[in-house]
Amino acid sequence: MKDAESAPAKLPGIAIEGLTKVFSTGRRETVAVRDVSIHTPRGAFTTLIGPSGCGKSTILRMLADLEMPSEGAVRLLGRTAADLRRAGKLGIVFQDAALLPWRDVRANVNLAVQVTGASVPPSAVDDLIALVGLKGFERARPAELSGGMRQRVAIARALITAPKVLLLDEPFGALDEMTRRHLNRELLRIWGARRTTTLLVTHSIEEAVFLSDAVLVMTPRPGRIAAEVAIPFPRPRTRELLRTPGFHAMTGRLSDILAGKEREDGDL
Ligand code: ADP
Repeated sequence: MKDAESAPAKLPGIAIEGLTKVFSTGRRETVAVRDVSIHTPRGAFTTLIGPSGCGKSTILRMLADLEMPSEGAVRLLGRTAADLRRAGKLGIVFQDAALLPWRDVRANVNLAVQVTGASVPPSAVDDLIALVGLKGFERARPAELSGGMRQRVAIARALITAPKVLLLDEPFGALDEMTRRHLNRELLRIWGARRTTTLLVTHSIEEAVFLSDAVLVMTPRPGRIAAEVAIPFPRPRTRELLRTPGFHAMTGRLSDILAGKEREDGDL
């Protein structure tokens, strides 16, 4: 059983303390996130869910050093986001794969190596392309790939520098349900091999439960953490889990919390 490994030593993973973000547009101020604190252990897979506009992406963007907090601070493995990003140890995947259309799969994956100046053995690119299930498509251009395949390339590109932290913002949000489920299983397989500290943002409760060690539920804007729910299902997780009563009970419970029918303050 890998289960002992899925409860990694409590070294700091993602630490967010008193995070507030206010956007000023002309004379209007939008409080996107208010006083959010999150602490995840190193090696854990954590997911943020919450209604649209509650500030999930904003939190992720602050973790990715793409947005500055108005108040509070974030630390990734004890380091600043800027520090980790500059060291090429931060992997980010957005909903839109954002591949360079004139580059083939191999060159797109290799882009992160060029940008960060990381030293990666030449075989690593092809190994990773195989790991995300794209063996044989190394020379294909993005236009020749399906949406799911493009997201696989984006995942490979995020992993090529062997990041210590992986930030995923709705990476499968634009895909059909079947492809999404398939890629969820693939993502778990890849994550299981590396145990990278991961924070996922998703709209899908099912996806959150299937993938995570813990799910954080946010309130409507300004987003705060309403509940932190541990997901106790053993790993490795397979598609059979999706059909178990325990899985349905967990997704039901999270829907209730999202709908404001249950408060989990006792878990915080
Ligand atoms: P979510 O990811 O949960 O859907 P977001 O983090 O994208 O939510 O947005 C949270 C709130 O912050 C929304 O009201 C959004 O309109 C606002 N917001 C996000 N980015 C900006 C920005 N760059 N300028 C102004 N308002 C923004």
